[in-house]
Amino acid sequence: MKFLTQLNESENYDIVIVGAGLSGLECGNILSKKGIKILIIESGPIGPLAHLNSLQPTSRAFKTWLQGHLLDPFFKKVNNSLSPPHFQNHSGLRSLVGGRSLYWRGVILPMENYALHQWPVESSLFRDNYQVVYKELTNWDESTLKNKLLNLFDNAKLTGFQNTPRAKQSFEGLSGLVYSPLYSLLSSTEGECHILTNCNVKGISKDGKNWKLEYINNRESKALLVSKCVLASGTIENSRLVRSLARTRKSIRNKFNKFKIYDHIIQGVLVRINKSLINLDDFVSDNSVVKIGNQIVRSNTFCSLKKSQNYYLLDIWGLGEQLPDQTHLQFKSNGTLPYVEVKLNAFDDFVLIQQVEEIKNIHSELMIYFNFSQKEVIFPKFGTAGFTYSDVLKKIENSESKMSCEPYYCPLGTVDHEGGTIPFGDSLNYDGSFLDTESLYILGPSTFPRMGAANPSLTNITLSRFISENYISK
Ligand SMILES: Cc1cc2nc3c(=O)[nH]c(=O)nc-3n(C[C@H](O)[C@H](O)[C@H](O)COP(=O)(O)OP(=O)(O)OC[C@H]3O[C@@H](n4cnc5c(N)ncnc54)[C@H](O)[C@@H]3O)c2cc1C
Repeated sequence: MKFLTQLNESENYDIVIVGAGLSGLECGNILSKKGIKILIIESGPIGPLAHLNSLQPTSRAFKTWLQGHLLDPFFKKVNNSLSPPHFQNHSGLRSLVGGRSLYWRGVILPMENYALHQWPVESSLFRDNYQVVYKELTNWDESTLKNKLLNLFDNAKLTGFQNTPRAKQSFEGLSGLVYSPLYSLLSSTEGECHILTNCNVKGISKDGKNWKLEYINNRESKALLVSKCVLASGTIENSRLVRSLARTRKSIRNKFNKFKIYDHIIQGVLVRINKSLINLDDFVSDNSVVKIGNQIVRSNTFCSLKKSQNYYLLDIWGLGEQLPDQTHLQFKSNGTLPYVEVKLNAFDDFVLIQQVEEIKNIHSELMIYFNFSQKEVIFPKFGTAGFTYSDVLKKIENSESKMSCEPYYCPLGTVDHEGGTIPFGDSLNYDGSFLDTESLYILGPSTFPRMGAANPSLTNITLSRFISENYISK
């Protein structure tokens, strides 16, 4: 593997991948090991080449994520919002070699069968691959060693919870080497994979049999012709690049003015319990526990227990599926960043109601077990100002009461699970190729026909490997 700061114009590549993030690096890794000569174009610089959590304590890394738009030099905004607080402020990319694979928390839940069932990919083959990748990534997971928080749930007779599977290993006391395909690529001596950094792909068009990529590198605008290209630049950037094709392909101009987009619906409660009230040290754990929901609830429920100097912080939250419907990514002709407009439908409202019920129930059972008196938790309408996770965390941290409980939600587009703009079965063929071509492929959660309730990365990694191995390499 070699990093480039500019392109040697006499050098030819078999395949060009746009984006050195989770999906692009998985693809580059597989293809280069097959002897295919690969160029990955990345708009960001070479950063630390290590996961954020392995560079600083997890709590600080978490704050960097929550306030990425203020604290993270690699944060890059790629959209505007017509529906604040959704897809606003800290909705964006991490633009550096490694992309968000150097930020993610490593939660690897497989997508539920009820959601996968509606995917038009060759499902049995894909499912076999799922098992293989899950097994490989759980080899990273040290937290299967008894999660102490599960004892609390057993004692309180709350059933159905399990350790949350994470592709994460402790790292020199910092507890956070999360899996990234970058590590394998950096240590590989096989094949040829070059990564061109600080190079932003502005648009793509067809030039005879080739794809023409227009890019800006070292402030110069240039173009590169390539016979096979893979877009792996994140959901919104992938859509912008597909949209740029409309300049030269009239047939797709109208179709790609508006894209559906969706995310996970997240609500929770943060409970502060002062240490003077109870000793919960035996249950404090590095990892959360999770209860998997069914196809009616379409939401998984998580719980974590952390401690700080004076208090314990109990977090109970639901992560549910937003269905593709009225939430759109729209392009304006004035060249501004695309806009996201959020509209929730009755199915989303149902997830919101189910989440609140489940969270209230777990909260109430735990409070009874602790022998604490409790007031009913009143959840705000999803999207109400002042109730985001960051707002509520600040309130809880500054609280003077011995026991406080605050409900919160995560605005859509801010947990980095956005997807579904160019789904399989619509403009994308089952092999990941775009429209009538066999030479333009798309990877990442942008290709998910449904999001399911599970976190997207296990599916994303499996899909990137599956499409690269079985189709792009052919
Ligand atoms: C803090 C955090 C925690 C997370 N935790 C989890 C978790 O526990 N479990 C889970 O499943 N998921 C998690 N995720 C989500 C997961 O990281 C993303 O879904 C995943 O990384 C998306 O992969 P991708 O390849 O599509 O995009 P990315 O990894 O973002 O890669 C896209 C790359 O393309 C580059 N790029 C964009 N546009 C251009 C352009 N025009 N030209 C050149 N390059 C370009 C970008 O700079 C970037 O490097 C988390 C994300 C974050 C930030």
